[in-house]
Amino acid sequence: MFKILKKEELAKSVKRLEVEAPDIVKNASCGQFVVVIADEKGERIPLTLADWDKDKGTITLIFQEVGFSTKKLGSFNVGDNIAHILGPLGHPTQVKKAGEVICIGGGVGIAEVYPVARAFKKAGNKVVGIIGARSKDILILEKEMKETCDELEITTDDGSYGRKGFVTDILKERLKDKPALVYAIGPVAMMKAVSEATRGPAIKTVVSLNPILVDATGMCGSCRCRVAGKTVFGCVDGPDFDGHEVDFEELQKRLNLFTQQEKQAMGLNK
Ligand SMILES: Cc1cc2nc3c(=O)[nH]c(=O)nc-3n(C[C@H](O)[C@H](O)[C@H](O)COP(=O)(O)OP(=O)(O)OC[C@H]3O[C@@H](n4cnc5c(N)ncnc54)[C@H](O)[C@@H]3O)c2cc1C
Repeated sequence: MFKILKKEELAKSVKRLEVEAPDIVKNASCGQFVVVIADEKGERIPLTLADWDKDKGTITLIFQEVGFSTKKLGSFNVGDNIAHILGPLGHPTQVKKAGEVICIGGGVGIAEVYPVARAFKKAGNKVVGIIGARSKDILILEKEMKETCDELEITTDDGSYGRKGFVTDILKERLKDKPALVYAIGPVAMMKAVSEATRGPAIKTVVSLNPILVDATGMCGSCRCRVAGKTVFGCVDGPDFDGHEVDFEELQKRLNLFTQQEKQAMGLNK
C-alpha cells in the first residue's frame, strides 16, 4: 500500500499527489514512469515520476483526469492508500552536457518535462523552457519551470496568458540559436509539430511517447509504436525516442483504439 501524504489541485482536473514509496524512490531518475493501480479492482495506468524526494522516501505524480482511472485516483485524499505502484520503469532520459537544451511541455506534459529540464540544468546546460496550454487556467508549474530554466517562454492557444499561439511558434524562432537538443513532451500533435520544426535544421529531438500501456514489461505489446520503421515497445524501449523517426499517425490511431470502451467505463453510452 502506498499512502498519500499530500494532495493539491494544480488546475481544473489536474491533481498532484505526494505518495510514500520508499523502495521506488531509491532508483528514480528523470524520464521514468510508474504503473499505478488505484484499488484492488483498478486497471493499470502509467504515470511519469514528476518529482521525488529520496530523503523523505516519496514520489510525486501529476495527472490529468481524462477517464475512469485518473478520475478514481483524483478522488483519493490525504491518508488514503493507493493499492499498487510498480516502478520505476522505462529508460531514464539520457542527460549530458550538450550546450543549449530546449525543453518543451504541452498541457500536463509540463509536469513530465519539469524533472527533465532540472536534470539538464544540473548537468551544466543552458536550459530554455517553452511551456504551453490551451488557456491560463490550465497552465501548470510555471513557478517551478521559471526557477529551473535559464529562460522560460509561455504560450496559450487563446492568448489568455503569455504569447498567443503554440509552443512551436516560439521554438521556430529559437532554432536560429542552434540548440544542441530539443526535448518535448505533450499531446501527440504537439510532439509531431516539434519534430517537424527541427527536422529541416537537423536538430536532435527527443520525444517521450504516451502509447496505451498495460503490463509495462514488454510482454503484452499494447504500447507498440513504429520508430525508424521498426516496431518498438514504449514501456521497455522508451518512453524516450528520436522524434524524427517516430510514426506519429500510427501512435494517434492506436491511442483512439478503445474510445468506445473508455466511454462505457465512464458510463457515457451504456
Ligand atoms: C509512459 C507514460 C507516462 C504517462 N505519464 C502521465 C502523467 O504523468 N500524467 C498524466 O496525466 N498522464 C500520463 N500518461 C497518460 C495516462 O496514462 C492516461 O491519461 C491514463 O492511462 C488514462 O486512463 P483513464 O482510465 O483515466 O482514461 P481512459 O478512459 O483510458 O482514456 C480517456 C482518454 O485519455 C486518452 N488516453 C488513454 N490512455 C492514454 C495515454 N497513455 N496517453 C494519452 N492519452 C491517453 C484516451 O485516448 C481517451 O481519450 C502517461 C502515459 C504513458 C504511456
